[in-house]
Amino acid sequence: MTSLKNLPKVDKILEWNGVRLMLAMHPRPVVLKAVRSVLDALRAVALKDELPADALAEAAVVARVEAELAALSAPHLRRVVNGAGVVVHTNLGRSPLPEEVRQALDDVAFGYSNLEFDLEKGERGSRYSHVEGILCELTGAEAALVVNNNAAAVLLALSSLAAGKEAIVSRGELVEIGGSFRIPDVMRQSGVALREVGTTNRTHPRDYRGAITPETGLLLKVHCSNFAVVGFTAEVSMTEMVVIGRESSIPVMADAGSGNLIDLSQIGLAYEPTVQDYLKAGVDVVTFSGDKLLGGPQAGLIVGSRKCIEPMKKHPLLRALRIDKLTLAALEGTLRLYRDERAALRSIPTLRMLAASEEEITNRGRRFLRRLRAGLSEAVSLELVKGTSQVGGGALPLQNIPTRLISVRVAGLTPQELEGRLRQREIPVIGRIQKDLFLLDLRTLFDRDIPVLTEAFREVAK
Ligand SMILES: *Cc1c(COP(=O)(O)O)cnc(C)c1O
Repeated sequence: MTSLKNLPKVDKILEWNGVRLMLAMHPRPVVLKAVRSVLDALRAVALKDELPADALAEAAVVARVEAELAALSAPHLRRVVNGAGVVVHTNLGRSPLPEEVRQALDDVAFGYSNLEFDLEKGERGSRYSHVEGILCELTGAEAALVVNNNAAAVLLALSSLAAGKEAIVSRGELVEIGGSFRIPDVMRQSGVALREVGTTNRTHPRDYRGAITPETGLLLKVHCSNFAVVGFTAEVSMTEMVVIGRESSIPVMADAGSGNLIDLSQIGLAYEPTVQDYLKAGVDVVTFSGDKLLGGPQAGLIVGSRKCIEPMKKHPLLRALRIDKLTLAALEGTLRLYRDERAALRSIPTLRMLAASEEEITNRGRRFLRRLRAGLSEAVSLELVKGTSQVGGGALPLQNIPTRLISVRVAGLTPQELEGRLRQREIPVIGRIQKDLFLLDLRTLFDRDIPVLTEAFREVAK
């Protein structure tokens, strides 16, 4: 064991050859930071009298500084392999973008664009004009507006439609989405008073009618995307709410949450009303996310009547919630794919993954295993097992989609140790542990993950 006073001094370490090489390649403050952080770690172990003598050898310390420097130099936000089997994984960046938008992103990101310039008239234009046309075309809405995310869309829509007034919401729809988005809190922020009606499990048309007063500014429907009320339930349909709204000339808004433009029952999922369905029912304003089931970038989409949306375009909040040009480029590209539903299902990764049949996934699994097993040591064993994937993003919480997973076993490692090592790699591999097996769901793996996995398996087995 070694005591604290044997720890080398920073100045001395900086003169070691290995570290001098690092100084030639990296900014001095970063190398210094790496050295200090390694010394701090060694000191902590020495304080507990647990430091083996060889831990302070020049080569050992240099290797640690090098590893620390590599960690400091790598981007903090980076690619991971999603083997967790949650398609719209909020912690892993929700929807991967379709390849088709790569060029648009490239064009707009690295040069100038007509973001706010009307090329026809040669004068100032609006950033919102780039996607309004296509959104109206796809949904049948009269007008559309896009902001930073759906939370922003709800905030803007509420502020614009009903600030200083009351909005009537069913008690069954006062939802928390996660990440502290709660409908009652958002309403308070928008200056809208919440008028709750009905009960948790049952709300009737008479509840809405009975709550309407001269103070009422809005009827709000919130899609319960992340939970389900089952059993003795009743909710007021969109169509009925529209009838009630029209009787008293009160606008009806729906927060659709995920907001799918395609009927998901055609890819084997439960039916969810599409954005077009809401509008056909006569809803005045629908808000939804860009990066959930739509499969595009983070954005909040607002579609509906011109009368309701035009004031939002002039609302002072809009500037604070405004969408970025990179997002706009990715969003426009994604929306264009929806002009051909088959193309959308093929090219938008979120939809493609959700639509993949058990048979397709099994075949993929066999192909993955063939390629992954080539060149792997005996210590790693890979096997195809049955299981289920989830939609994620707070959508279709009851839907378990049958899938195939790769069960990974590495001799000498527990599933927990294996999980930790794969998670802490330069390109982290995220899986899940179930029944003491470490599993990677084939539904959310890309072909380009194969070489990453091969290398990861090879190294953890060393
Ligand atoms: C996800 C969700 C939101 C928040 O959308 P973000 O795009 O994450 O801001 C709001 N309302 C509902 C019903 C949702 O499902």
